[in-house]
Parts: sequence; structure tokens; C-alpha cells
Amino acid sequence: MSKAKRTLDWISVTRMASGMDLKVAVHILEGKADGPTVVLTAGIHGDELLPIEITRRVVREIDPDVLSGRLIAVPLANPLAFESFTRHTPTDMHNLNRMFPGTADNWITELLAKALVDYLVPEMDVLIDLHSGGAIPTVDYVYALNDLELSRAFLFPTLYRGSSYPGSLGTHVIETTGKPVVVAEIGGGNRLDDQYLERGIRGVMNCLRKLGSLSGEIEKAPEQLLLTKMQILRPHYGGILEPKFQADRLGQSVAKDTLLGLTRDAQTFEVLEEFHAPFDPTHLVLARGILSKVNPGDYAYMLGDSATAETLPAQ
Ligand SMILES: [Zn+2]
Repeated sequence: MSKAKRTLDWISVTRMASGMDLKVAVHILEGKADGPTVVLTAGIHGDELLPIEITRRVVREIDPDVLSGRLIAVPLANPLAFESFTRHTPTDMHNLNRMFPGTADNWITELLAKALVDYLVPEMDVLIDLHSGGAIPTVDYVYALNDLELSRAFLFPTLYRGSSYPGSLGTHVIETTGKPVVVAEIGGGNRLDDQYLERGIRGVMNCLRKLGSLSGEIEKAPEQLLLTKMQILRPHYGGILEPKFQADRLGQSVAKDTLLGLTRDAQTFEVLEEFHAPFDPTHLVLARGILSKVNPGDYAYMLGDSATAETLPAQ
């Protein structure tokens, strides 16, 4: 490669009923030296703010002159969902991260998925996909999908060896290309934002050093917990969820049957449901740290089985 540069490109998706063009910004940093093409994505879910800011700071921080290869960064993959600050696209109610690889002949979310795949996937050597807990929940783990060492390099204390969801961007990339994929679930719910911002940036930068995109010393992974069994607790009834734990308890374990929170009827004050730790002991992965409205089926808690988890020694 000859000259280092920084460009802003756009992925054109379609024309909206309003006459506005639906397009997605792509920040491309091209280094002088050869190296991998790393795709960094955020904002696949519209209510996940922190990954957008992490992406902005990573793009700002990296000088293309010292980059090897390319960084292709998409800070906001679903602008429609962001506009309404919802997980799903409001126009067709679909979840972009269940729609990959998309199609040209269906719902708008599928058009968006296809446009992203067509642009990003042929280029990529590695995918780093950033997520968060959304408007209310806070979450703290990194998937160990098909490259454990790269996932470890994100430096988060909790890893989860499970398959990502069918139709997610990560799953599509793994199934069709086999290229390394790291999916990080970083904070959210406006809890501990400064801490998660710092940890998210540090994780991305360390993965880039591990991949050889950036020079400098690779931070060695600390002792990490590799979960292989996880349970999602979803409310069976809507109401107000009263947490018994704050978000700062994520990453800690609690005894089986510990009361995590409860759902109360907003009108009658009746307790509709209690949420208890299912495993002996239970590792806290996602929680609602504040009083919040829940619908039946929402994410209330994600909990890991500490007993079947593997402790990975510090490197
Ligand atoms: Zn997400």
C-alpha cells in the first residue's frame, strides 16, 4: 500500500417513504503497511449508545500512518432504530441482528442487512461487533466464538462459549467465511458509562494490536471465566421490575436461589414474579440495575453457571 488515508464512505440502502435516503456511514482508515482488514461494527441495535461512542473514539485515536492494513468502522449500522432509540427497526419491527445476510426482496431491515453484508463481508479478515445492554439493562461479557485468543484479548473478565444467534452478523460471517469474530457486550443502561467506555476502547485497541493492525505491546489477558452454560430470565408478566442488585455487581457470583429482583403490578402493587439465581453458584452477566418497566419476554437477567465454567489462567 502506498499512502495512509482516512475516508468517509456511505452504504446506500434505499429511499424512505419520506423521500429521505437511508444510508449508513463507513469510516475507512487505510494504513501504509500491509495488514488485515478489520471490520468494526456498532449500532446494529438502535438503543445501544456506548458502542457508537467507543467506535468514534477508536477511529479518532488511530493514526492511519501507524496502521497496518485497514480498519473499516460502521458506528451506526441501523440508523432507523437509533432514531427511535429502539432495539428493533420501527418501520417493520424487525431485529437487524436476526436478519443477516438479508435479501433484496423483503422487509426494510432485510434490505439493510443485505446492503451491510454486500459492502462489509467481502472485504473483511476479522469482525469485531460491539453491543450493549440497551436503554435499561447493563451487560458485561465477550463471546468466545471461533477465536478464543482474540476474544481473550478484549480483556473482559467474563467470556461465553456459546453460539451467537442465527441471523446475527457474527453467525453469518462465521458460517460463510470462517473468519475470526469477536462480539462484545459492553455495559448499557447508563450505568458505569465511563468505566465501560474505557474498557471497550481498551478491548478494541488490544485486539487490533493482537491482530497486528497496530504495533505496541499486547496487553496480556487477566484470569478470565469462560462460561459454557447461560440462562436468560425473561419476565412472564409485565409490570415494574424492582432490582435487588445494582449493575456494579456484574461479574460477581451469588449463591443459588438468591433473590435478584421482582416484578410488581404497577396498579395493584401485587408481586407477580420473583427472579432467583438458578445456578450454584450463579455468575451475574446481565441485570437491570434500576427500577424499570418490563414487558413479558423482555431481557431481565442473563446468568451463568459458575460450576461448569472454566477458569482461564492469566497470560
Ligand atoms: Zn445488541
